Amino acid sequence: MNEATRFSPERCRRLIVKVGSALLVDPDGAIRRPWLETLVEDVAARAHAGQQIAIVSSGAIALGARRLGLPGGGRASLEDAQAAAATGQIALAHVWAGLLKDKGLRAAQILVTLGDLEDRRRYLNATATIGRLLALGVVPIINENDTVATEQIRFGDNDRLAARVGQVADADGVILLSDIDGLYTANPHFHRDAKLIPLVPHIDGEIEAMADNRSASGMGSGGMVSKIEAARIAAGAGIDLAIISGRIPH
Ligand code: GLU
Repeated sequence: MNEATRFSPERCRRLIVKVGSALLVDPDGAIRRPWLETLVEDVAARAHAGQQIAIVSSGAIALGARRLGLPGGGRASLEDAQAAAATGQIALAHVWAGLLKDKGLRAAQILVTLGDLEDRRRYLNATATIGRLLALGVVPIINENDTVATEQIRFGDNDRLAARVGQVADADGVILLSDIDGLYTANPHFHRDAKLIPLVPHIDGEIEAMADNRSASGMGSGGMVSKIEAARIAAGAGIDLAIISGRIPH
């Protein structure tokens, strides 16, 4: 693979943008609004230029945990996580809808479980709904339906969910916005000499061995392991995937 075949988001007709919890919510549990506004500005510019964009948004559990005063970021038990998700999701949807509206865009909320995407009929329903929304110029805001998914049937992380949504939506590209700017030879938060791998043409055992599931924020759930799995799902469907740091505006 050379520069010419490198993933270029501007060439994607349909793009999925996944936003991790640590970008959306600060350590105190408040929305990181100024940063989010810069992201929405970019999404709006692309959408108004005719690109179709769906957002996979984490943050429900982190937001809800703060509102309910739950310990451990709301992840101490499945019941806590579900209560936090139910409480946080409504706030999350409100924030996205408000910010998008300020930029002249309409938002729609879609909550899915793993089961929804494993069952063919429901998969096709989701495909039709997302396709219709995108064709209408609406920006779908997608999250896992954490309130009904049990430990056994959860995605658990929105990285893989974003890749599956990419398949469902017949997208060309998936961007994982994270607190890390890509895959490193080892977790850079713990290994100072770790080096960034700018491009991964094929995922093999050597690449997998570089990933661990420790997140620096402790807020999200997947770490690099779920990002590599997401990349594998996306690649299998012919979709490019990029891991990009959302630590800077825009
Ligand atoms: N669905 C979870 C939430 O909205 C996030 C899962 C993840 O951390 O990737 O809080």
